[in-house]
Amino acid sequence: MARRQKIYEGKAKILYKGSDPKTLIQYFKDDVTAFNAKKTEVIEGKGVLNNILSEHFMNGLSSIGVPNHFIQRLNMREQLVKSCEIIPLEVVVRNLAAGTMSKRLGLEEGTVLSRPIVEFYYKNDQLNDPLVTEEHVIGFNWATQVELEEIILIALRVNDFISGMMHSVNIKLVDFKIEIGRYFEDELGKLIIADEISPDSCRLWDNLSGQKLDKDIFRQGLGNLIDGYREVAKRFGVLPNASLAGIKEVTK
Ligand code: C5P
Repeated sequence: MARRQKIYEGKAKILYKGSDPKTLIQYFKDDVTAFNAKKTEVIEGKGVLNNILSEHFMNGLSSIGVPNHFIQRLNMREQLVKSCEIIPLEVVVRNLAAGTMSKRLGLEEGTVLSRPIVEFYYKNDQLNDPLVTEEHVIGFNWATQVELEEIILIALRVNDFISGMMHSVNIKLVDFKIEIGRYFEDELGKLIIADEISPDSCRLWDNLSGQKLDKDIFRQGLGNLIDGYREVAKRFGVLPNASLAGIKEVTK
């Protein structure tokens, strides 16, 4: 069998060419990084959980007609996705203040925002992904005005839908990040959600206890990140059997 061609390796995922040029294989690694890779660790089983959770959320979004790159999960660590041209923006939606918003604006973590706030960060590790405005997005041709309006619409639809999914399992969606790409079908480009939606890219707090179930466990040294991710997967009924997933039993 021909060796697969790697086309990109990021901090948490690897992309390989798919057999059809319109597809890619997205491999979820166990590497966890924070603060632009200043803090890193390998946590066994993290990739498996993110693969399965991202599948679950992307399928949910597809079911309400929000276009995304997910085609099918191939195995415990890989999924087949549509190949798209990534817009160099991290699109963040926040419902409660936390993370860099709390720090930047001096807001207490957990302050409820009067409406969801959409932010854009320019994807550039060397610059530490700086916060940019809509003017920058248009002025530097990262997206057109029409695309920008659609990106905001998509981001808010994702927020409403994933907030609802989380609420149904007693989890608060504090904030999240998505990436958007242009997918070309018959010359016509359309915007789709790419990358992943997982506890690596969302802040998720238990509704009652406020316990953090996302990557902040790692960022803030609050315990074993895998316990939080497993809890999220368990509540959605998608927790993989450890032996089937090829990982060590990680429950206590
Ligand atoms: O760090 P900050 O508060 O700006 O993050 C906002 C949201 O975006 C968080 O849910 C975080 O996990 C996510 N994020 C991400 N990848 C980044 C930066 C932020 O998934 N590079």
